[in-house]
Order: sequence, then C-alpha cells, then structure tokens
Amino acid sequence: MTLYIKKLNSGGLITNYFCTSRCRHCLYNSSPYWPKEYITDEIADKNLSIIKKLGVNTVHVGGGEPFLRIERLKSIVKLVKSYNIYLEYIETNSSWFKDFESTCKILEEFYSIGLRTLLVSISPFHNEYIPFCKVQGVIRAAQSVGIEIFPWKQEFISDILKLDPNTTHSLDEFKSIFGDRYLSYIESNYWIIPGGRALKTFRPFHNLMSLEELLENNRYGCYELENVSHFHVDLYGNYIPGLCAGLAIKVEDLSKPIDPKKYPIVSVLYDKGINGLYDFAQTYSFKPKKEGYWTKCELCNEIRSFLFNKKLGFLELAPSGYYKYNNK
Ligand code: SF4
Repeated sequence: MTLYIKKLNSGGLITNYFCTSRCRHCLYNSSPYWPKEYITDEIADKNLSIIKKLGVNTVHVGGGEPFLRIERLKSIVKLVKSYNIYLEYIETNSSWFKDFESTCKILEEFYSIGLRTLLVSISPFHNEYIPFCKVQGVIRAAQSVGIEIFPWKQEFISDILKLDPNTTHSLDEFKSIFGDRYLSYIESNYWIIPGGRALKTFRPFHNLMSLEELLENNRYGCYELENVSHFHVDLYGNYIPGLCAGLAIKVEDLSKPIDPKKYPIVSVLYDKGINGLYDFAQTYSFKPKKEGYWTKCELCNEIRSFLFNKKLGFLELAPSGYYKYNNK
C-alpha cells in the first residue's frame, strides 16, 4: 500500500521550533537549543498555497513559541489572511509577557490584522519554565483587547495556583503536593502524543512489552500516517504525516502517491508498520533495548534516531533538530 495524501482538513503552521522552554511532554522536542530559525514568507507562502489547494480553509499557528519573533509572526498572520484561510488561533506559552501595557499593545496589533483567539498553554510542564503570573498577564491583556482565550488546559489552573504564581515550579513540587502518580494523572487529562520527550516522561507509568510481544501486537501498517484531521506543516517546508514527529514529507510531494525510493521509511511504516521498520533497521544492524517498549512509537523513534545518527541521508528523518536536540 502506498501513502497518498489527496485532501487535508484542518492543520497548523509551525513557525519555529526554538522555544524558551523544554517541556517534558513536547512532541517536537522544542527547546532553547534549536537554531533561531523562523518561517520565511516564501516558505509560508508555499505551504499555504499547497494546503489551500488540498482543501484547507482553517489553520492554527504554533511552534516552538511563535511570539518570540513578533514582527515575523505578524507577517505570517497577514499571509494566512491573504489566502482567505481562517486563522483559528495562535498558540503561546506566554513567556514573552513583560507587562500589561506592552502586551495589550502587541495583542491590539494582532487583533487589527485578524487574530481572534489565543491558545494559552497552561500545564505543570510549562510551569517548570514560565511563572504563572505571565500566563495570567497574557490572558488579561488578550481579554482586554477582545481576543478570546482557548485555555489549554483550564483543568490545571487550580493545581498551579496551589503554588506561588510569581515563580516557576518543578514537577517534584507538584508531586510533593499531589502525590507520586501526578504525572500519570496528567497523562490521562492532557492530550499526550507518544512522541518527542513524552516517550521518556511517561514510560515509567506503562507496562513494557518485549520486542516479540510488541511486534506481534502491531502487525498492521501505521494508518495514523494518513490522518489529516490535525496536520502540521513547518518552516522547512515539511508536512508531518499524522502526528508522527520526526517524519517528514516535502509539501510539494503531497497530492501524489509517496515515492518509496524517496521516502523508504514513511513508505515501509505505512505499508508494514513497525514490523516493516524493524526489518528495515535490521539491515543496518539495529539492536533493540532488552527491557522492552511501552508503545510501537517508542521503538519507531528509537530506530529513526539510530538511522539518523548513522548519517545515511534519509530526507524524511526531519527536521534534523528533532533528533539532534531530543536529549537536550
Ligand atoms: S509507530 Fe511510528 S509511524 Fe507508526 S504511529 Fe508510531 S510514530 Fe507514527
């Protein structure tokens, strides 16, 4: 079977992967270590024109932290509008908040060019890096200029407010209040995707399967790769299939069958799933972990990191920062 993306629903534009924070659940392994690269108008234009042709009428904008380059972000918002694509929301971690007045001024300018909703990250992971008073400041400023807040997630506010909002707090502080299984509670109350740093963070809360068990339980292709209901395209002109971070298809290669010669890893995953990828990796002498795996995606990520580190030049193992900065 060949992956063939003919149509897209709703998705996001990733403007940058660098971030002020290094959240332990981050799917894209974003952090301050990434190069300070931001989407250019040229790449945004290419991404938008292709996704528009594939049926997209709404997008969100995310990162990394998009507000780390405010003038560039404004330019992207204007471009989205020029395509007659509705901007659902911009995601932010609020780290850029300095004071109420300057934040109102920035957000008024965004309102004037069409921003109506801000997705504000609210979680104990973000609170390890960003004092909650900054998040509260952005929320107040947005509301005062008429921008709606999409709190992600509201449920954590009462937990976070048990601690001083003027400073950051480690997960250990949360555990000391809510108990050792607090992380496991977060996993069941948040939309955690098994990729990026979440793989390591949530591994202790899952039963591990031996390699044989894992392969036996996942005999089919990864049809997740054809999911177009919440897709992302990024600053490097990559389309990220499904939510499988670290895999990439060039946007210009959408709307035609994926060429297995150009994309051997995506192709084998779609056709034969993790069993196919494992066989593929065996030809490069990949050795699995003896302790086992909690999900097929953990093994998939481990194999992909192994292949990336061998420097074999697989175009589809991108962006490179996903593999370079995963442990930083
Ligand atoms: S195993 Fe790999 S390709 Fe399959 S769903 Fe998980 S991350 Fe995606």
